Amino acid sequence: MHCGARPFHRGTSLLVALLLSVIPLGCGGSSTSVAERKDGEAAPSTLLLVATTGMVGDVVQRVARSHARVVTLIPAGADPHLWSPTRSDIVQLLEADALFLNGLGLEGRAGEAFARVSNAGRPVCAITSMLTPEDLLRDPSNPNHPDPHVWMDPLVWGRTALAVAETMSQLDPAHQEEFHRNALAYAFEAEKLHDEINALLDQVPSANRVLISSHDAFGYFGKRFGFEVRGIQGISTESEASVGDIERLVAEICERRVPAVFIETTVSDRTIRALVDGCAARSHPLNIGAALFSDSMGPSGTPGGTWLGMIRQNATSVANGLRGST
Ligand SMILES: [Zn+2]
Repeated sequence: MHCGARPFHRGTSLLVALLLSVIPLGCGGSSTSVAERKDGEAAPSTLLLVATTGMVGDVVQRVARSHARVVTLIPAGADPHLWSPTRSDIVQLLEADALFLNGLGLEGRAGEAFARVSNAGRPVCAITSMLTPEDLLRDPSNPNHPDPHVWMDPLVWGRTALAVAETMSQLDPAHQEEFHRNALAYAFEAEKLHDEINALLDQVPSANRVLISSHDAFGYFGKRFGFEVRGIQGISTESEASVGDIERLVAEICERRVPAVFIETTVSDRTIRALVDGCAARSHPLNIGAALFSDSMGPSGTPGGTWLGMIRQNATSVANGLRGST
């Protein structure tokens, strides 16, 4: 089972989204409510929903509000490219009323477990499934695959809430209007964040608008906010940078006088430190900016512990690192 039958076109206004949102789209892949699925048992007052990443859990919780308990499987700071569910994760997945994942190949090692959940009759919703091909970037080193890091673009990520609302409406039809209202509120908040970040990044001169980090997590951020983006390890952290890759990048950084590069909270800083050492040998002082949240939010209760907080903090770190003073 999967969700997202009807794409939500980029450029569609939120008013149109509101109209679309009252049309059943079939997201969730199942038209049976929880009460029906449990053979006549009374529907529980709260659903148990499982999300893969913290970012997915953030959207799901904001749409479901008090009507569900959301469990996030991938811990803060862990790398979703390398994650595979433990035995207890699988037990939780099979007990849940629905599974929400990022999709687009992010959770690449968990496909077998997701298939088990789907085969057990549970809705499995890739929250990116209602995005259009125009919303998506390609993996530059593997053009047949999409770049999964869509949470880096507030305007695109805000709209994933609509797919969540569709699935929630099928699980709990009595509250479908509320779920769609919550999804729209999330999308509006994402639009406001986009405007705030644009204003913040105005401080970065055009010559400094190059964002270099450990892996290619920031392509959507770069496209949306006008930054050239370089990830040393490619789209997935499973690939390794060669000595030649590092040397070429060092030469370019020195030639362009790039002031800072960035480490990521979920990826080893080894390659970034190799860049700093290489630039020092060529007498170019390269700073390391504040750690960026790439594939994981910060711990719960910290400023980076929500999707909005993580993206805002990243933008602040980029602005501080590249405007010339850290
Ligand atoms: Zn990644």
